Amino acid sequence: MSTLITPHTDARMANIIEKVRGGERLNLEDGVYLYESNDLLTIGQLANEVNMRKNGNKVYFIENMSLYFTNVCESRCAFCNFRKDEGEEGAYTLSGQEMVEYVQQHIHPGVREFHIVGGHNDNVPFQYYVDSLRALNEHFPEVTLKAYTAAEIDFFTRISGLSIREVLEQLRAAGLKTLTGGGAEILSDQYRKKMRVDKANVEEYLEVHRTAHHLGMKTHTTMLYGSIESREDRIRHMLQIRDLQDETGGFMVFIPLSMQPKNKNAGIMRRNSANEDLKTIAVSRLMLDNFDHIKAYFINIGPQLTQVALNFGASDVHGTILKERISHAAGALTPEGLTRDELIWLVKGAGRIPVERDTFYNEIKVYE
Ligand code: SF4
Repeated sequence: MSTLITPHTDARMANIIEKVRGGERLNLEDGVYLYESNDLLTIGQLANEVNMRKNGNKVYFIENMSLYFTNVCESRCAFCNFRKDEGEEGAYTLSGQEMVEYVQQHIHPGVREFHIVGGHNDNVPFQYYVDSLRALNEHFPEVTLKAYTAAEIDFFTRISGLSIREVLEQLRAAGLKTLTGGGAEILSDQYRKKMRVDKANVEEYLEVHRTAHHLGMKTHTTMLYGSIESREDRIRHMLQIRDLQDETGGFMVFIPLSMQPKNKNAGIMRRNSANEDLKTIAVSRLMLDNFDHIKAYFINIGPQLTQVALNFGASDVHGTILKERISHAAGALTPEGLTRDELIWLVKGAGRIPVERDTFYNEIKVYE
């Protein structure tokens, strides 16, 4: 598999191939060149080589469940179709006990992670967010709490007056084990201004993860691509994440999130093309040489393209989820979740070995 790339007449691409095969790090210009190239198969094959070196034939997934305590949000990010104002039709805020009851009604045996995100609801105090986690932790101590984005942590510092470290310490005492990767969008001040990303700025996003890593937490990170940003913006985003990873080594996975089209305010009328989704996964794999995993997120790109992405550098297909809400509010046409059997089928169909994992990529079961 690693020798199939034909000798390249394009000197620049040949140089990039040589760098990747020699273990040399790619720079901004290399990344932009790859993105601008139409040679998707070469880029994909190169990314596949890198992934095979890191992960072999294994592709990871987890049995998890997405939970959303509240959709009330003080912010108004232009691309968001999930948020509601307090009192608006469809707005809700669940207490810890209500969430426990919801989980008891819907949980499947085998779920080992709760993926928890929500709105920045300033009608409730920071203690509400601590108590919410504690309630889940007390009732489901065997399930790992993967909760809140860096933007939510930043929001908690504002409503509590506490530092990032103090917020994280209180949440950890209530059961928090890791942060989700959301809130990154595109790490560019100009982008954030134009897209009215009404929450943590670039430095704040990175600082929350840096602090979490210094506290010994392993975390996740994302990139929401496919709106007004340039491809160079995306590469610059990856380089900032790569720099922080060099510094702390605290990220477990990079998750490219394909923008969904149903946005009241952002004017995004189309989906990303399959080519763009695959290229983004492959380029991520090539740029982020210090990451173990790149995730193909079936909620945003669909199960079929996720399957193809496993030959373009992706080594993780997320998890069962059960009922996804944020991307579906933004127009996702995909299933709201998949069963364990469906995920296994998807991975095996790509000629790969499905590996059920825990949140921290410890292997639970290999489905040979
Ligand atoms: S993206 Fe998050 S912070 Fe922004 S409006 Fe939506 S829920 Fe609120």
